Amino acid sequence: MTPLIDPFARAISYLRVSVTDRCDFRCTYCMSEHMTFLPKADLLSLEELDRLCSTFVRMGVQKLRITGGEPLVRKGILTFFEAMSRHLQTGALKELTLTTNGSQLAKFAQPLADLGVKRVNVSLDTLDPKKFAEITRWGRLPQVLDGIAAAKAAGLKVKINAVALKGFNEDELFSLLDWCAREDHDMTFIEVMPMGEDMSPLRLDQYWPLKDLRARLADRFTLTDLTERTGGPARYVRIEETGQKVGFITPLTHNFCESCNRVRLTCTGELYMCLGQEDMADLRAPLRASPDDAPLEQAIRAAIARKPKGHDFDYSRQKVAGQITRHMSHTGG
Ligand code: SAM
Repeated sequence: MTPLIDPFARAISYLRVSVTDRCDFRCTYCMSEHMTFLPKADLLSLEELDRLCSTFVRMGVQKLRITGGEPLVRKGILTFFEAMSRHLQTGALKELTLTTNGSQLAKFAQPLADLGVKRVNVSLDTLDPKKFAEITRWGRLPQVLDGIAAAKAAGLKVKINAVALKGFNEDELFSLLDWCAREDHDMTFIEVMPMGEDMSPLRLDQYWPLKDLRARLADRFTLTDLTERTGGPARYVRIEETGQKVGFITPLTHNFCESCNRVRLTCTGELYMCLGQEDMADLRAPLRASPDDAPLEQAIRAAIARKPKGHDFDYSRQKVAGQITRHMSHTGG
């Protein structure tokens, strides 16, 4: 089958899939405490997710990142990972991975490793149990640390993703890095996205630009920029003194548009071709309309033909923030 190539000659090889909008945490910068979730009928079933992802794999996707909501709270999620692992076995898929809050990893790490998952991104903003409970509202740190330990014990490579929050985890910059170095976890910082429409003064106060965080690191350490790309939006530096690799994700910055190889699928089957733009294609309709995959493949090709060159500079910062926040909660950040 002809691979998916967009109008700017970029091969689409990375699909990020949200399998649920539900989450067992209510991180203050991500969800309101009383979230209204999508009606079940709108969500793709696990079989539909399998069919859709398998179609993408047939069309050249080599890396699948499963996310949410919280992917590991989706009922029957292992069945889905098992289904995807058959593409690892054929070699069509090179990597099957996930982004999780870690709460369910104690239970799932070993089965995931057994199914061929090699790496996992765990979101963790603080190592202080009180602050953890405050920022996640419903989460408990020991449960997540147990999950991370289980992942390590199962042989999974862990990357910790921490949202940088002024006045919240500023004081933990070095302790988080030290902990990651000791535990042999990679570490990436994410710049917090203001919450668009319901942005509160508190969140604005918490905006900690990663250039400031980086400057603080550079006060203590020698940082070397790395050219390495993972297909994702992160830039990496090496801390020369410790050899640690640290990533920075600035969702508003149009890093690497020219080499962007990824698209995102929501749990309702909407395909977003670019993080910074609202344009999306509904793949649920062609999926449900026919058991034949041809119309679905056609819809995917038509969507990829609309993948923009890069983020749209005409949007105001606030509007982009709103878009991205919506992406985060529906497509998993
Ligand atoms: N539940 C999973 C997790 O916690 O990793 C996957 C979904 S979560 C939405 C994905 C990532 O988006 C997490 O690292 C989370 O911290 C990040 N995120 C959510 N809201 C954000 C915001 N407003 N600004 C920056 N990152 C955000």
